[in-house]
Amino acid sequence: MKSAAFLGLADALERVRGTASKKEKVAVIAAYLQGLGPEDATVAARVASGRTSERGSRDEAQVGYATLLEVLREVTGATEDGVSRSYLKHGDLGEVAEELLAHKKEQPLFAAELSLRDLEEGFARLRSAKGHGSGSAKRRIVKSLLLAATPLEGKYLVKALTGEMRTGLVTGLLEEAIAAAYGLTKGEAARAHMVLGDIGAFAGEAASGTATSVRIRPFRPVNFMLAEPFATAREIAEHFLGTAYAEYKYDGVRAQVHRSGGEVRVYSRRLEDVTASFPEIVASFRGPGAGFIIDGEAVPFAGGRPLPFQLLQRRLRRMEDLEEAVKKAPVTYFAFDILFRGGEETVDLPLSERRRLLREVVAGTSARLAETTDVSGEEGVQGAFRRSRDLGYEGLVVKDPESPYAMGKRGSGWAKLKEELDTLDVVVVAAEYGHGKRAGVISDYTFAVRDGGGLKTVGKAYSGLTDMEIDEMTERLKAITVKDHGYWRQVRPEIVVEVAFDSVQRSDRHDSGFALRFPRIKRIRADKGVADIDDIWKVERIFSGQKLKVEEA
Ligand code: ATP
Repeated sequence: MKSAAFLGLADALERVRGTASKKEKVAVIAAYLQGLGPEDATVAARVASGRTSERGSRDEAQVGYATLLEVLREVTGATEDGVSRSYLKHGDLGEVAEELLAHKKEQPLFAAELSLRDLEEGFARLRSAKGHGSGSAKRRIVKSLLLAATPLEGKYLVKALTGEMRTGLVTGLLEEAIAAAYGLTKGEAARAHMVLGDIGAFAGEAASGTATSVRIRPFRPVNFMLAEPFATAREIAEHFLGTAYAEYKYDGVRAQVHRSGGEVRVYSRRLEDVTASFPEIVASFRGPGAGFIIDGEAVPFAGGRPLPFQLLQRRLRRMEDLEEAVKKAPVTYFAFDILFRGGEETVDLPLSERRRLLREVVAGTSARLAETTDVSGEEGVQGAFRRSRDLGYEGLVVKDPESPYAMGKRGSGWAKLKEELDTLDVVVVAAEYGHGKRAGVISDYTFAVRDGGGLKTVGKAYSGLTDMEIDEMTERLKAITVKDHGYWRQVRPEIVVEVAFDSVQRSDRHDSGFALRFPRIKRIRADKGVADIDDIWKVERIFSGQKLKVEEA
């Protein structure tokens, strides 16, 4: 089948960007997708969502701002000053590309239309360019794509390569458009997308007419079920009414373990394949036996007690010799759920039943079952909570024994209880050099929460990290700098941190209209990406919750 022209997609995305109406955005994409075969639909949906590779893949076609700017200058003959002016005008590298490409210096030898297949081939080559010499290989690939691109195509190519689409086409709308294009109900679309984990794969199945028969299977990671936060033991007791399971809230890294045909793979909460970081988990489950997918927490654990979560960070970012890491902070896997067993999905079974299956899977391995006690009433929950804190755990996750596994949802079947005031997961958007002892390192971080498709700043933190973490942050922030203003720099929003704070105030210092009081960084959340950060709604909720308390007092 002939692949469709990239120009059609660029055109559709431009129209989506041009309208504020969600309904119209969905209609434009749905009409566009209808004309595509499965292979093209996969690429188109992925690009529309700002991705150049399957979600969860470790091979990203990432291209830094510096490379893109360099290639754009080369292709268009623009000066550094010209590029800088254009960037200041648009604040978006895709639009810079569009403006500059209108004056191309070089023309390709054989002018040919770029198809979606050409695009995917380019991405595949970028994904496999690794290690020594990959920089110049990437430059060459991007150059050949940009040479062949029209200004509008160049715009959306650059947007996809930087992951910054700014079309307002959030995942939910894209999912709706795919459903409309291929005649799926909302529920069918949500389920297939959830199981596949990747919008491109979902569009491909939808275009093939096979979306309704997609099933969970090993080595295809599934979106994790999340817990709803509760403030007090009483609220939890009221929420569950009868007897519920109380489990320790293990403070480690969430991990999904898949086994099939003797092979074991581990996936992170972002659905990345992190098998290489967890040899202990692989060793726990290697061997014959039925295939399964289980959910749990990888916890650094020694002498019968949990060790600080931070000990896992370097291992996850592959900055540490693994053998050394395994010796210093060995990981134990605490399993708490099962999604698939011996050829069958188990997500719709009640938790009590899933626990029984999970027990069989974990028996005889060096992994452990998360400890569960039956609780009921406020005192029961409070007692279990105290015990968990005394033993060094973060709190409790209380679960409804009847509940199914709600993939990708903050389901009402799980409730979490932690002691301190809520924390926020935020992304660093700008940073500054510190003073005194911190001169020479980048130690002040301005951070933002989500607001619709954009980001809004809510505070600036100076404390909470160790000297070593600050050194690492300094290196990373330098590498992702978008604009260097001397003492401060604007950075690409990708480092997620969890901040604690005393309260939320109204303020015009930040563009969200709120400021966190006394924010401090609790930890760097290497396990989360910018899509997982909290949104302004949560900040507003905490703000109005405080007001209520003050009024009541
Ligand atoms: P947090 O920042 O509180 O860890 P989160 O946003 O990572 O929250 P939530 O689903 O809101 O995720 O909170 C539950 C988290 O607690 C899970 O993601 C998981 O990593 C962890 N956890 C620890 N022990 C358990 C358990 N027994 N059952 C479920 N989740 C658990």
